[in-house]
Amino acid sequence: MIEVRNLTKKYGDHIAVDHLSFKVDEGQVYGFLGPNGAGKSTTMNIMTGYLAATEGDVIINGYNILEEPEKAKRTIGYLPEIPPLYPDMTVREYLTFAAELKKVPRKEVKLAVVHAMQELSIMDVADRLIRHLSKGYKQRVGFAQAIIGDPETLILDEPTVGLDPKQIIEIRELIKSLGRRHTVILSSHILAEVSEVCDTVLIMSRGRLVALDTPENLAKKSAGASVTITSPARADEVRSALDGLANVTGADFTDDGAGTVTAHLTFEGEGDPRKDIIAALTAGGCAYYSVDVQRASLEDIFLELTDSEDEEYDDADDDLIEDEESSGSASSAKSGADPTSSEQEEINPDSEKSVNIEAKEEVEDSK
Ligand code: ADP
Ligand code: MG
Repeated sequence: MIEVRNLTKKYGDHIAVDHLSFKVDEGQVYGFLGPNGAGKSTTMNIMTGYLAATEGDVIINGYNILEEPEKAKRTIGYLPEIPPLYPDMTVREYLTFAAELKKVPRKEVKLAVVHAMQELSIMDVADRLIRHLSKGYKQRVGFAQAIIGDPETLILDEPTVGLDPKQIIEIRELIKSLGRRHTVILSSHILAEVSEVCDTVLIMSRGRLVALDTPENLAKKSAGASVTITSPARADEVRSALDGLANVTGADFTDDGAGTVTAHLTFEGEGDPRKDIIAALTAGGCAYYSVDVQRASLEDIFLELTDSEDEEYDDADDDLIEDEESSGSASSAKSGADPTSSEQEEINPDSEKSVNIEAKEEVEDSK
């Protein structure tokens, strides 16, 4: 189990992580969801002992990361945002090195390396230099490094960033299968990814935890609907016909003066309110032209919770742009390209369904 208590990280005056507390139970996949700059990487770097906290405690599988970092670290596999690969090593050499760092018993190193390579399907590149591998293969080597020694907990920082759609699907499948044997914590700024692979979602914004729930419950919380009704009846007639409907949280009536009344109603709860609306209008003797439902989505609640428009631009991504393998979103943002351009599509196959806050923000920034 992992427990984060009152974790705070300040960079000078800037608070990157702000009194964050949460618990992570065994054998589940947790998703850290939040726009760029929310504090996900900072939190993960502290949880894995790579960065000191300003305040607060992190208990990893029974060990305090500050007091017993060696023991705590041995129970975690970490895939940082930029995996620490050594380009001049072969995959096998690098993983052997990683196994030794993890203190895998000498006799077991060879087998642990082979096992990790098998799990990531990288046996065929075992003796190639890392510098000659594609981005997707490099990411797999980073993953292999994380799972070596079979740690209880895997912490993965944006594990699908920069991969192509096919690789993203493979990595998501891999995460799901790793989740059957390990506790997995991954971060992402892509809502669809987190709701697809995670059992529990922690939504972060400006260094704070703003929601912690299952994707299903988050969707339920956002289950309200808004309904637009147009009717040839008079406004007061429509109003009194709809008076007394259950679960209404707001109502607004406008008469266009040309014989059409438009009513906007908001509802809480999950069901479809149209049946009741139509019954009420009929009972009240009001005809209607249309009754349309617009359902709130998980995207809406995410956007509302993270207040994304004001979230700041993350400097860390500048590095990515200079990197030879800069991601599609970073490079298209630099040129001020449309976030829906094909380049963007390529790194995020779910871009239509998902909220890609990072790309939107960067484009805003480059204007
Ligand atoms: P995320 O991973 O959610 O995008 P980060 O944890 O990388 O967020 O960053 C959180 C905040 O801390 C951002 O405002 C970022 O600019 C800032 N930050 C991160 N690293 C540093 C650093 N080394 N020095 C100063 N500020 C930093
Ligand atoms: Mg990050």
